Amino acid sequence: MKRTELPRPRIAVSACLLGLPVRFDGGHKQDRFIHDTLSKVAELTPLCPEQLAGMPTPRPTIQLRDTPAGVRLVQSNDPGIDHTDRMREVAEAQARRLDGQIAGLIVQRKSPSCGMERVPVSRGKGLPAVRTGVGMFVRHFAERCPLVPIEEEGRLNDPVLRENFLERVYALDRWLHTAPEDVSAFIAFHASHKLNLLARGTDAYRTLGRIVAGVTRDTLAERRAAYIPRFMQTLGRKVTRGRHINVMQHVMGYFKQQLSPQDKAELLAVFESYRREETPLSTPLVLISHHLRQYPNDYLGSQHYLQPYPGELALRAQV
Ligand code: SF4
Repeated sequence: MKRTELPRPRIAVSACLLGLPVRFDGGHKQDRFIHDTLSKVAELTPLCPEQLAGMPTPRPTIQLRDTPAGVRLVQSNDPGIDHTDRMREVAEAQARRLDGQIAGLIVQRKSPSCGMERVPVSRGKGLPAVRTGVGMFVRHFAERCPLVPIEEEGRLNDPVLRENFLERVYALDRWLHTAPEDVSAFIAFHASHKLNLLARGTDAYRTLGRIVAGVTRDTLAERRAAYIPRFMQTLGRKVTRGRHINVMQHVMGYFKQQLSPQDKAELLAVFESYRREETPLSTPLVLISHHLRQYPNDYLGSQHYLQPYPGELALRAQV
């Protein structure tokens, strides 16, 4: 599946976050970033697990409930009405439909169906709920589609989590559209993410490099299967300012000889100011890009680290 147009990953989104009136009370929870910004650079696919499970709108509220048989998804005012098995079937069916088609999933926080973490679990009358649950749909979907990055709309307000989520989404999208095809595409995929991986530590880059090394047509399927879960897991690691600076110093090494002493001093001063949290990540990266235009380098030009997702998102001005 080769494509030439700009990447536009497909992301499944809890339908209520897109402004669709699917909530239990007939309302929605439209999210401005998803609706106004993300929709311009990604194809958003609405998904309402409760409607897919056949529940009407409006409908009685449901909740996660701790029972001797484990955590169940039940009607709040009548725990005898149990939606657990039906929701698992919905999640399995959606996983079959969407696996390999979507590069991310954004869900509504706290929902007993869609919430990703810390969803209230009722323990019955007189006992306070505990915030240890995972929405029943997300729980089963994530088990069947472990590569797909999942985030909640609330956490996407955090610039670092948002940057990390989108980096993973765009990387998985590139994988879905290029890397499975042949040996050279697989090797190129790994090489073009070298700096993204180095930002997570040299150990991960080396481990993944060993999986790619010596791959042949005969071993391609097996190596790819070993590679991509580790790759996605690695990208999930948080990148500190210190690690970003290490990577940028590594990049600087490629054109250091051509820089004047003043240019070098300016770059190092900008790195330092980023380290002291006086400037966002976009500031040193803009300067690096400026030097790269002056001193082009094929290897650096292939690196997704320098622009992991469309520049118009401008997220690195906030990280
Ligand atoms: S949180 Fe999930 S299940 Fe609830 S209305 Fe939104 S999309 Fe539907």
